Amino acid sequence: MSAMPSPRKKVGVLALQGDFEAHAKALERAGAEPVLVNRAGDLEGIDALVIPGGESTTMLKLIGETGMKEPLADFTAKKPVFGTCAGAILLAKEVTNPEQFSFGAVDLSIERNAYGRQVDSRVATIEPGEEFAKRAGEGGVEAVFIRAPIIRRTGPGVRVLAEYAGDPVLVEQGKHLIATFHPELTSDPRIHRLFLTKI
Ligand code: GLN
Repeated sequence: MSAMPSPRKKVGVLALQGDFEAHAKALERAGAEPVLVNRAGDLEGIDALVIPGGESTTMLKLIGETGMKEPLADFTAKKPVFGTCAGAILLAKEVTNPEQFSFGAVDLSIERNAYGRQVDSRVATIEPGEEFAKRAGEGGVEAVFIRAPIIRRTGPGVRVLAEYAGDPVLVEQGKHLIATFHPELTSDPRIHRLFLTKI
């Protein structure tokens, strides 16, 4: 008799705009079952959600047009959400440069396009702290920044897991995870795996 394999966790990826396909592949590599989400009904039956990078203003427009604003607000109140780059902007409590609507799921203030035009995009090796090493594994993380925001303030409930150039770039608050870079664009599964432990 063989043991029943444990069912894979179903993780939605908001698929309105941006690099949702890369996240779906990264979730698969990390051992989850990705589910593309582009209407409110798709949120039913998933254990967690990833909001990908892309353009937060465009995503917000599409969220409004598809009637997903309320359902996404409800979802973030109940289940784990991982926001990367534009997704981080959508989950923040406060957005600047310019101000715009956000779901406020994580107590931080984030400035859009904060690295300036000359340094639009970059790849850097970051060294996460001990907490990350303990829960996700040792070693540096290759971080891809693309017109990235900078987290300017974190509230008392927010834990910083990694910094780059003195600013937090990977943080968590309870069940939610935020990265200002793109962990889906490298083959390192540790950050997606860390997110799966929140389910
Ligand atoms: N600059 C984008 C924004 O402000 C985010 C960039 C990204 O997701 N790679 O929404």
